[in-house]
Amino acid sequence: MEKLKTDILVIGAGPAGGSAALAARRHAVSVLIVERKKNVGRPVQCAEFIPAMMLGELTLGAQGNDKSFIVQQIKGMKTFIKGKLEKETKAPGFIINRDVFDQKIVKEAKKNGARLLTSTKAVSMTPDKTIILKQEDNVSLEVDARVIIAADGPNSRVGQWLNIPPVKRLPGVQMAFALKEKSEFTQIYLEPEIHAGYSWLFPKGDIANVGLGFQKTSQNMQTAVALLKQFVSQFKKRGIIMGEPLSHRAGWIPAESRKKAVYGNILFVGDAAGHTHPITGAGIFTAVACGKMAGERAACAVLKNDLSILLKYDEQWQEMFGRTLNHAVQKRLKMEAEWENFDNIIRSCWIAFRDYYV
Ligand SMILES: Cc1cc2nc3c(=O)[nH]c(=O)nc-3n(C[C@H](O)[C@H](O)[C@H](O)COP(=O)(O)OP(=O)(O)OC[C@H]3O[C@@H](n4cnc5c(N)ncnc54)[C@H](O)[C@@H]3O)c2cc1C
Repeated sequence: MEKLKTDILVIGAGPAGGSAALAARRHAVSVLIVERKKNVGRPVQCAEFIPAMMLGELTLGAQGNDKSFIVQQIKGMKTFIKGKLEKETKAPGFIINRDVFDQKIVKEAKKNGARLLTSTKAVSMTPDKTIILKQEDNVSLEVDARVIIAADGPNSRVGQWLNIPPVKRLPGVQMAFALKEKSEFTQIYLEPEIHAGYSWLFPKGDIANVGLGFQKTSQNMQTAVALLKQFVSQFKKRGIIMGEPLSHRAGWIPAESRKKAVYGNILFVGDAAGHTHPITGAGIFTAVACGKMAGERAACAVLKNDLSILLKYDEQWQEMFGRTLNHAVQKRLKMEAEWENFDNIIRSCWIAFRDYYV
């Protein structure tokens, strides 16, 4: 078996892993990224909205001005309750081509000297934390790394190897359709049938990403796809979207962050750390921001030969996002426990309403 040595091994080339690798490579350390998919970012499992402030978080060097991943601008968010428009909120942002976005970050990391192996899955970890990789043609590799960054998404294998409980997750499903009229607003639908979740319609040029995420319980036996189909037919009847689905997507959305994201020489980032917002399901911004923090701390720990520096990552992400994520977790618990009381609780459980922030 071929043996590789690297200062930092990043498992997963999503926005968290790409950002971690890029930040680490701004220092004199070696970085290896492994990605199980053949093509970074594909297939896309995302509604593709990023907040405008996200652009400030991206440090894409000389190519920083190339925003070719942006498809269109978003001015705000319209929130509907039981089909009725209740609130229009300023929410500046962009709808992106998520695959291009992920690829751009990884390309920049490579340009800065990170090594990328695609079609390469991290399959196991030995007791001395050697990582075993399997490539497409069943070739196995062994990697010895001083720091490991687990950026392997919501079903984190690295978490399983460490025997730490998986983060709580909700199923998310999405279809794309032709949009009748272009729009600069995202639409959010809060409905009693979508238990502790919501349905979305995000305009992307001439098409719309239509999806939903919800909590499955023993009372609601409908699958996410069946529920989504109901909403799709309503959107069609109202003349918002038309035609046959252009794509079908499904994925898991973390709904609670890990209490800590540092385990010895292993750092969890992005969805693997549960850094997704437990109410909105948005995770790209935190993936990029926390990926950057983790990459910097990892490089610093390697250069100073002091793994205790890694603990600063836990302090840093908690300081930046801890309060927001914890508040959202409390709201989620309320939503899940009191959903039967939909009319009374819904405004205090969705970010567009003042009551949410109380
Ligand atoms: C339906 C849906 C819609 C969403 N819409 C939005 C949205 O509009 N806006 C938003 O901000 N967020 C959205 N999210 C959440 C967002 O997609 C995630 O928060 C984001 O992708 C997190 O990035 P990440 O890098 O942590 O994980 P990922 O993007 O999941 O990347 C993890 C990578 O690790 C790779 N990997 C996994 N295991 C291994 C292994 N063993 N070896 C090697 N590679 C491995 C995977 O192939 C993947 O490429 C949505 C999620 C879903 C499911």
